[in-house]
Amino acid sequence: MAELLSGKILSEQLTLKQKEKVAELKEKGIVPGLAVVFVGEDPASQIYVRNKGIACETIGIYSRTIRLDADCTQEKLTETIEDLNKDKQIHGILVQLPLPKHLDEQKTLATILPQKDVDGFHLINAGKLFTNQKGIVPCTPKGILFMLKDAGIDLAGKEAVIIGRSNIVGKPAAMLLLNENCTVTICHSKTKDLKEHTKRADILVAAIGKAKFVTADMVKPGSVVIDVGINRVDGKVVGDVDFEAVEKIASYITPVPGGVGKMTISMLMENTLEAACAQAL
Ligand code: NAD
Repeated sequence: MAELLSGKILSEQLTLKQKEKVAELKEKGIVPGLAVVFVGEDPASQIYVRNKGIACETIGIYSRTIRLDADCTQEKLTETIEDLNKDKQIHGILVQLPLPKHLDEQKTLATILPQKDVDGFHLINAGKLFTNQKGIVPCTPKGILFMLKDAGIDLAGKEAVIIGRSNIVGKPAAMLLLNENCTVTICHSKTKDLKEHTKRADILVAAIGKAKFVTADMVKPGSVVIDVGINRVDGKVVGDVDFEAVEKIASYITPVPGGVGKMTISMLMENTLEAACAQAL
């Protein structure tokens, strides 16, 4: 039976440390600040934005949510970000994705100052990750690596297979694991014989967005299985991995909920604290 990699427990431990860090910074007169820009009314995004606000409040980070109408212009969005770039109270800026279709995601992300880009989606930060330089790393992949390291899982030389090639999860996760000396394969919707690849994985990361997509016959016995998926099925949140079957053969597995999702928020707090220190100290 696989050992559970609990994002819930780990994020609770991190929250305590982050609270201490915020208190330390406040003694030096620095109040870390995070701004979340939210365009439109997407219900899932509303939940994510609310959870980010709660996390900030819990550890003492100043948070501001800027809500813009669904029909907001690109100019208005750019102007809002530029104001936040100049705002000394704000050390981290996050634009909640996805944006309404008429807005240009890449142009929007490029407007955020790289040192305030706590999601790590700006081209400068993506480039730094690509070239193995210190920059701001996207929260979900950063959380995955944190969990693997915390469990003492040796990464060098391991076969890591990632299913999913998105800019926010799959690709940065692949780059982080490559920088940790894994041999990395990225699979996607056009991959032939997916199972041929996944069966080789010592570390399998599932970031697809399809409930219970990864079945036990796709998994190498004794491997580490990281489930990034968040899918709503009959009112319940389930991952991309058939947890009940896969936990019987994996050595480690992340649950959904209570796994990677918790770490994503923790890493957002971590990135905000790091950004505040870099800008203020
Ligand atoms: P995405 O839709 O941008 O990417 C999905 C990827 O899956 C694509 O690259 C696609 O090629 C691949 N794919 C689709 N069908 C496939 C198939 N049949 N075989 C192989 N690959 C296939 O999604 P994303 O933004 O990367 O998110 C993936 C999942 O992770 C979603 O469920 C999302 O909700 C979740 N997510 C969770 C967190 C978290 O904090 N836990 C953060 C971000 C995303």
